[in-house]
Amino acid sequence: MNRKRNWAPIEVVLTVGAVCLVFALSIVRKLKPVLCPLLVLAGLSGGLCQASLAQGDADLEPPGLAPFPTRSADGSATLFQNVRIFDGKSAALSAPSNVLVKGNTIERISVNPIIVDTNAKVLVISADGRVLMPGLIDAHWHAFMAATSQMLLMTADSSYLHLLAARQAEATLMRGFTTVRDCGGPVFGLKRAIDEGVMIGPRIYPSGAFISQTSGHGDFRFSFEVPRPPGGPLSHSEVEGIAAIADSPDEVRLCAREQLRQGASQIKLMAGGGVNSPHNPIESTQYTEPEIRAAVEAAENWGTYVTVHAYTPRAIRQAVAAGVKCIEHGHLIDEPTAKLLADKGIWWSLQPLTYDEDVFARMDPVSQRKAQEIWAGTDNAYKLAKKYNVKTAFGTDILFDAGAASRQGAYLAKMVRWYTPAEALKMATGDNGELLALSGFINPYPGKLGVVEEGALADLLLVDGNPLENIKLVEDPGKNFLVIMKDGTIYKNTVPK
Ligand SMILES: [Zn+2]
Repeated sequence: MNRKRNWAPIEVVLTVGAVCLVFALSIVRKLKPVLCPLLVLAGLSGGLCQASLAQGDADLEPPGLAPFPTRSADGSATLFQNVRIFDGKSAALSAPSNVLVKGNTIERISVNPIIVDTNAKVLVISADGRVLMPGLIDAHWHAFMAATSQMLLMTADSSYLHLLAARQAEATLMRGFTTVRDCGGPVFGLKRAIDEGVMIGPRIYPSGAFISQTSGHGDFRFSFEVPRPPGGPLSHSEVEGIAAIADSPDEVRLCAREQLRQGASQIKLMAGGGVNSPHNPIESTQYTEPEIRAAVEAAENWGTYVTVHAYTPRAIRQAVAAGVKCIEHGHLIDEPTAKLLADKGIWWSLQPLTYDEDVFARMDPVSQRKAQEIWAGTDNAYKLAKKYNVKTAFGTDILFDAGAASRQGAYLAKMVRWYTPAEALKMATGDNGELLALSGFINPYPGKLGVVEEGALADLLLVDGNPLENIKLVEDPGKNFLVIMKDGTIYKNTVPK
């Protein structure tokens, strides 16, 4: 029940010596699961670790993308002159227009010239008919784990991993992704540092640790860490805030509340088998309806919602019955379950996973076999999402792979296999913005995201070309995104003078 706070009152009356003994034993108990994997892995793969460590630095984006933020929150403004707008909703560009950003919001949009006080601090960008669009939103991101190898995540000092995540957050923003919904991992500190301007990166809607049952998709423990006695020590990934292992409605409720306490904007639960986890079959249904409902109640009392990892109809149906508002993945869905999502207005956060150049490198054979199953379902999943007009979100779910992370925009471009460029771009902007708003009164960034309209938050991209005609422009943000603005601040401006 009470996983961490297992001090009985009787301990208060123990002698000092006995307290010290208990303390020492508890330290040994806590260290064992953390140290043993490190020692085993170090022994097995010294050379491999070295290679991974060296790779950490080499994986960074080229320095040419280094951002240079220009603050405009102090009453100054930016005027985009002569832009054609993709507003995140409609399938066509606007007539040539002018857009005035003041502070962190879009103040005015007009086809007529916008007159600005020449004495005020106004940056005028002559866009020459280029396309202005909303910043991109990735609805399924893992800021802590997207670009760092599994080996590093298991072995490196956590302060180093957080610094790598911060560098990757900067690269994410410089790819034009101005907002991410983080579907699991320790990102509360990163989010805070970005929001305070200490680091550069996207807006983050954090889930905190994803909640998993024992042997679920988020149970990364080694065999020798099982069994865990009730109230036993936390495993490495739990200590780091990556996963929270909880069994029973009470434990799930506790873990959900702990994430909310730390600032989670939504709760992420593992409701079925996954690819990158060897101890559960893809076909497995995880948790019971009462366990999922416990998280749903905790989230709804906080004004927000639960989203679940689930691939199969059975896992999806159980989660929907328990009251979740969003399904992550769902690649193995069947037709009646897709219809159910549509009927109930449940969001479907689906990833364009196909067998292509982004097949995750270094995947073990078990994971590869599972991944093949998922990839085989992708076409059918998108077909059903379209057929039943399910509210569909775009997300990448890139994990442990710096190469794939650098191709985040290419994942969006892949969507034209199923959608028009306008539909795909709408999904990654206006539609994803609607999904983010489900976090209700704890929304960390109240205001409209993913649209270009008066009063919306000023997250904008100026594109050198028309992405509605050529979506491949988003594959090369370094070249094609001339301006990247988040919250009214310009992080990149390479418009030729
Ligand atoms: Zn994920």
